[in-house]
Amino acid sequence: MRIEEVQSASKKQRIATHTHIKGLGLDVNGNALSLSAGFVGQMAAREAAGIVVDMIRQKKMAGRALLLAGPPSTGKTALALGISQELGSKVPFCPMVGSEVYSSEVKKTEVLMENFRRAIGLRIKETKEVYEGEVTELSPEESENTSGGYGKSISHVIIGLKTVKGTKQLKLDPTIYDALIKEKIAVGDVIYIEANSGAVKRVGRCDAFATEFDLEAEEYVPIPKGEVHKKKEIVQDVTLHDLDAANARPQGGQDILSLMGQMMKPRKTEITDKLRQEINKVVNKYIDEGVAELVPGVLFIDEVHMLDIECFSYLNRTLESSLSPIVIFTTNRGICTVRGTDMNSPHGIPVDLLDRLVIIRTETYGPTEMIQILAIRAQVEEIDIDEDSLAYLGEIGQQASLRHAIQLLSPASIVAKTNGRDKICKADLDEVTSLYLDAKSSARLLQEQQERYIT
Ligand code: ATP
Repeated sequence: MRIEEVQSASKKQRIATHTHIKGLGLDVNGNALSLSAGFVGQMAAREAAGIVVDMIRQKKMAGRALLLAGPPSTGKTALALGISQELGSKVPFCPMVGSEVYSSEVKKTEVLMENFRRAIGLRIKETKEVYEGEVTELSPEESENTSGGYGKSISHVIIGLKTVKGTKQLKLDPTIYDALIKEKIAVGDVIYIEANSGAVKRVGRCDAFATEFDLEAEEYVPIPKGEVHKKKEIVQDVTLHDLDAANARPQGGQDILSLMGQMMKPRKTEITDKLRQEINKVVNKYIDEGVAELVPGVLFIDEVHMLDIECFSYLNRTLESSLSPIVIFTTNRGICTVRGTDMNSPHGIPVDLLDRLVIIRTETYGPTEMIQILAIRAQVEEIDIDEDSLAYLGEIGQQASLRHAIQLLSPASIVAKTNGRDKICKADLDEVTSLYLDAKSSARLLQEQQERYIT
């Protein structure tokens, strides 16, 4: 398998409620515009996030962590998505929820490790070069190690090629040699050779290369024989997890191994620590050689208070490693216990980890901002609602939460349609609020009617 064929296995994001967020909505100087890119208000947090984006772009954030802290539905997740959109699709962004680590099959630290590696990108550059020369000799020669006898395949064929820089011997593998024969190329013909980091990948007549390498373009005419005609750079973005998975997949033939210098044996079924270490070794080698560049992305851990002490100590350790992404946490918790301990700590995060975080706070929205956000959501969801009802929904949002108000939009539009209207009016909102409780009212009700429930 060639490197171009390795598909990125990025996680599908659950972003349905944030589809209106298109970025952070900052101007060229990094100042937040009051309504831009789908973002309303929360100016200070957006500007702070903008600086983080710059730091990530300048690779000054790797191994650091950011905490977005604030009351429920104040746009923390929206901010994290805005950051990812500003960074663009080439920078890996891996979202997860704290509670994802709890599974009966996979160790907590394994889940974290996999997500860490999904958030670290590798940009691999291959340079293709095309040479031109005249075939001087075209004869199959068995190499020393395959000259052993009848039935053994030829491992390579040597041909001579006369270029302006003198005659040189080219080592072709049999499939490339076969292609030459098929094209009836003989001594005296001028052929083109595509090399990839020094190794011959393809040979043929000019026309086969002309379009791909733009050989007829003016700047390449006249073509000095034997010189590099054109360098074509192929850039491939993969994550470390893509490489892990490609090498773990059980299969007979070649996979990304060709990229990894044939170092790993195929037929692995599971991503093991050993495999990861081997991948790291090869990755580091490629980075040292300048073939690949590390692109630390973003690991986004929503509801960080759901992690326990084991996860936190793992995070502390991993953040220090050289292959580490930027980690963005969010929490809406105040002071609470750190899971797995009886310690109380701000946001349920142990103080030693808290100490190394940069914290961005999000604030509760006022009525105007809430109404603006609701109007954007109504538009995105193609729901008609009149001004007064929107203001009324804004009030409901102020009492309960922004998320609750957003969630009422769809059922209210169904109620409106049932009542034969296209536009939501106040009566529809009254009807849905009587049907659906928000978290606060539900909690209040539980307290009032405690004796009716099993405790
Ligand atoms: P929680 O702590 O409950 O997880 P949160 O702070 O992550 O909440 P979000 O999920 O980001 O809150 O926000 C709730 C909804 O409001 C989402 O649909 C989000 O896109 C939208 N929203 C929040 N803030 C803004 C904003 N400033 N501009 C536009 N939309 C916003």
